Amino acid sequence: MDFQATSWQEEPAPPHAINCSNCELAGQRTRVIWGEGNPQASVLILLDNPGERENRDGEPYVCGTRQTLQKAAWEAGFTENDLYVTYLLKCRPKRAYNKEKARAACREHLQLQLDQKLPRFIFCLGNTAVQSFLGNPEAEVKELRGTWLEADGRHLLLVSYHPLAVRRRPNLYPRFAADWKMLFDRYRQEHAGTGALTNK
Ligand code: SF4
Repeated sequence: MDFQATSWQEEPAPPHAINCSNCELAGQRTRVIWGEGNPQASVLILLDNPGERENRDGEPYVCGTRQTLQKAAWEAGFTENDLYVTYLLKCRPKRAYNKEKARAACREHLQLQLDQKLPRFIFCLGNTAVQSFLGNPEAEVKELRGTWLEADGRHLLLVSYHPLAVRRRPNLYPRFAADWKMLFDRYRQEHAGTGALTNK
């Protein structure tokens, strides 16, 4: 069967965050976008910020980022039910903004998601997400990929390229696919015999 990307179910933002005005992106966004996929999945995928499709509401359009991400996930063995996607910034920027301030302001939302969902795996995609999540502006995907890291003593962290970078530079796809496979192999190993594909 050929792979076909689909629009994943969105998780609504919690009431306290729907009108968040913790940073200047509140004045640029269409809406706050919390995440998509299975909210209880044990794999949380972290991207930098929502794309065009997510910014609009209810449009059955799958952007290039999603197509590449879903294709590699599917080829590795994952289904939509195994994964949850969220962002460093829950609002899509439209103009120039203070990146450092916005990322620092939005961290509390990501922290809440991590505290509530307790994902076993965090898969951080792209240098922006990796550097911000690790709090290290020198961190580079090309140097960190292929190695398991630990986050907060409770998550296993793996990093890879941003799907859009992979789309623009197809020669990166084999490495991107290998990272997904590495994640899936560990995921399958940890879930072997439990019959459980989610945290809860
Ligand atoms: S980006 Fe995050 S902190 Fe800034 S307004 Fe949106 S939800 Fe709030």
